[in-house]
Amino acid sequence: MTDAIPERPRRRRSWAEPYKIKVVEPLKMTTRAEREQAIAEAGYNTFLLRSEDVYIDLLTDSGTSAMSDRQWAGMMVGDEAYAGSKNFYSLEEAIQKYYGYRYILPTHQGRGAENILSKILIKPGDYIPGNMYFTTTRLHQELAGGTFVDVIIDEAHDPRSQHPFKGNVDLQKLTDLIKRVGAERIPYISVAGTVNMAGGQPISMANLRAVYELAKSHDIRIILDATRAVENAYFIQQREADYHQQSIAIILKEFCSYTDGCTMSGKKDALVNIGGWLALNDPDIYEEARNMIVIYEGLHTYGGMAGRDMEAMAIGIEESVQDDHIRARIGQVEYLGQKLLDWNIPIVVPIGGHAIYLDAKAFLPHIPQDQFPAQLLAAELYREAGIRAMERGIVSAGRNKDTGDHYYPELELVRLTIPRRVYTQAHMDLTAEAVDEVYYNRHRLRGLKMVYEPKYLRFFQARFELL
Ligand SMILES: *Cc1c(COP(=O)(O)O)cnc(C)c1O
Repeated sequence: MTDAIPERPRRRRSWAEPYKIKVVEPLKMTTRAEREQAIAEAGYNTFLLRSEDVYIDLLTDSGTSAMSDRQWAGMMVGDEAYAGSKNFYSLEEAIQKYYGYRYILPTHQGRGAENILSKILIKPGDYIPGNMYFTTTRLHQELAGGTFVDVIIDEAHDPRSQHPFKGNVDLQKLTDLIKRVGAERIPYISVAGTVNMAGGQPISMANLRAVYELAKSHDIRIILDATRAVENAYFIQQREADYHQQSIAIILKEFCSYTDGCTMSGKKDALVNIGGWLALNDPDIYEEARNMIVIYEGLHTYGGMAGRDMEAMAIGIEESVQDDHIRARIGQVEYLGQKLLDWNIPIVVPIGGHAIYLDAKAFLPHIPQDQFPAQLLAAELYREAGIRAMERGIVSAGRNKDTGDHYYPELELVRLTIPRRVYTQAHMDLTAEAVDEVYYNRHRLRGLKMVYEPKYLRFFQARFELL
């Protein structure tokens, strides 16, 4: 007779990586004195640091992914023919298979696709509704003569709202816009998943389906910013009841099926350092785009990409839709975010797909916004541990053209963006510990004053001094 085995409580399932490390890139270790000098020389602006002086680089997840051995092997089979490279056909096949669009045009990166699409579809005086703007996307819409209209739900603007799909479109706002300007003035609805500027927040399948039905009833197209659509698919799988049992690949394909085309930055989800594409289902628009791409990007079978890079991207797409990959990718972001939440450090919730956003207003309440608390916090994280983050607050927001005053944005944030497959759990631990150390000493910090201010996109090159 066997003893009954007592039931063991189910342990937490780890997000551990579905890969092991084969090549390493040694990092320079710096002393605090060296870092103090480096950040002072950089005018307390993390954009002006040399990457060599950075230990953990969380500036962006754009083009900073680690490629797999299969991708590197793909680089060796680059077919650098000017026309009809075999790597183009690998890429086309991967996009058709996993995203489901009919016609594919490679571009040098996401903004290349945005430029072509905006030029073709937008006429002066048009309106383009979208679930929050993205910098390059909106700029191309405006350069083509259009006006972007934000139709995201109100919860997206509240760093403390726990709404599971803060990227959702507000159907009432969209309906109101269609009534106000007329469907014929709306060339397409611009939908992003996940929404970068809202903190990597997802849009639900149910919401996109409803947007699609509304759009179809008015004969309006939907164009997806597919940059982080795979990460969006993960949140649908985790949070939307009908999708718990579905694979990421199946969810992604259904998601894209509610749109008429996409622009894509391969530098994010697709696990490569450069590249992008434009995808379309309508043969007439495709024909126009294929013609325009030779003016701005390159022939339609390379569009500004080397053959080897198209091959690496084709392989990256396939790797990116594996459930194990995406669980580990977002699991790592959640691991860092949860640690900070456990230590009562103010961050934007829910934790998004690609980054943790520190709430600098809550972190440094004694520093007024015009003394640049998020800028200071980013500089301080570098001084503390060599971690490079990015300001997303008053410096990024710029000045009002008419009055010359700063814009005072509601959200004063520092973004810790996690590159894909690059850093280890120990790096995340160290990051959390550094944030905690700065938080513990926060009362000692004084603000900054701006001593050099460039005219455009000042956050890239502005310089500061300690007060
Ligand atoms: C990065 C990004 C883009 C632009 O892509 P690039 O490859 O940098 O030109 C567009 N939309 C979103 C949401 C992005 O994050």
